[in-house]
Amino acid sequence: MKATTAASSAGPSGTSSAFPAGSGNTRTAARIAPHSHIKGLGLDNEGFALPSASGFVGQNIAREACGVVVDLIKSKKFSGRALLLAGAPGTGKTALALAISQELGSKVPFCPMVGSEVYSTEVKKTEVLAEVFRRAIGIRIKEAKEVYEGELTELTPTESENPLSGYGKTVSHVVIGLKTVKGTKQLRLDPGIYEAILKEKIVVGDVVYIEANTGAVKARPHRVGRSDAYASAHLVKSQRTEVTDKLRREVNKVVKSYVDQGVAEVVPGVVFIDEVHMLDIECFTYLNLLLESPMAPTVIFATNRGTSLVRGTDDVVSPHGIPVDLLDRCLIVKTEGYTKEQVADVVQLRAQVEGLTLGPGVLDKIAVEGERASLRYALQLLAPASVVSQLAGRSEITLEDIGEMNELFLDAKTSASAMGDFEGGLRR
Ligand code: ATP
Repeated sequence: MKATTAASSAGPSGTSSAFPAGSGNTRTAARIAPHSHIKGLGLDNEGFALPSASGFVGQNIAREACGVVVDLIKSKKFSGRALLLAGAPGTGKTALALAISQELGSKVPFCPMVGSEVYSTEVKKTEVLAEVFRRAIGIRIKEAKEVYEGELTELTPTESENPLSGYGKTVSHVVIGLKTVKGTKQLRLDPGIYEAILKEKIVVGDVVYIEANTGAVKARPHRVGRSDAYASAHLVKSQRTEVTDKLRREVNKVVKSYVDQGVAEVVPGVVFIDEVHMLDIECFTYLNLLLESPMAPTVIFATNRGTSLVRGTDDVVSPHGIPVDLLDRCLIVKTEGYTKEQVADVVQLRAQVEGLTLGPGVLDKIAVEGERASLRYALQLLAPASVVSQLAGRSEITLEDIGEMNELFLDAKTSASAMGDFEGGLRR
């Protein structure tokens, strides 16, 4: 029996990033969605930041510094190093990391994670890091590129599209069909290797189909439609497992053979670790090792902490909670807060992307809120305000809706000071 599923592009429109295959897919797409207005660093030919370009507003010094980092990466002078973005929440650190990956080329894998994600009961901390590093290495199928220059679709099969789901050990091999100039090219893979690739690599190419072959002699090919594939996926309990080193070596061998044959090329992507201060000393030590690998992707860290304790130690205090040996490898770029005008520009961009119409005075009011609280708070007002305006039967967000938002929700500073007053009252 053959299970076939048409592969589809899983990336949200408007972003050029590839998404990691497997269970990280949806999470990555959700993390990137708020940045869909970001198309690059918005620099001119000499590397100077344009006041507002490629979806980026302000943050000129940080953008120019990131431009230099892009040049270093492109000229292969950044290996063994990392970029550390330091700044208050909502000052565009994630947006800068995404823009760097976009500047590195179209379809460069962008793999974001948060430091605290390494703590899981199922998988070792170092394994979580190893996985994300491997996921950030894409394989580009070259022949497909020749035909579809500029508009490659990404093979990002989600777990539910995994043809192995529900078929277990009976599958003898998996065939990936790729569109090429000479018709469809088939890549035949051992199921274990296929699963490891699915979990840890992004295949970029125009994929026609993926088949799981049970090896039944002369069985009539039974093509399972997409909905059946979804159904079968539910039979399998999703579980996080570790890929063995042996399998990893085999995957490397397969990838290397494709590269040697000229069928594929390796595309190093970007790993973005937000809240890097949440990692502990064991993870930091392992990161030093990962950074030294010749196959390492570009690594970008972000933190909003000043000097703090390195987790997992009793008394090692260090800038940003990062041990000095790792810090030594980092180029540090600081992000700044925003003016009212800059908040207004970003809010306007997001309103356009989200198809929202702002009534008279609304942009100014939200910008005031953003300057007082934070850019993120200002942006977060948009969605609930649009719900309220829709409920009232209006097609645009009005000042009244924003007023209602301020009654219903608190920004972080107001909330914290309200709690402070409450605690003070209890102590008195
Ligand atoms: P945190 O520390 O909480 O992770 P952050 O510094 O990573 O925050 P982002 O998530 O990048 O901040 O920014 C919050 C939102 O504001 C996102 O939608 C982002 O795209 C947008 N944004 C931030 N800075 C800019 C900017 N300079 N131009 C355009 N959009 C921006």
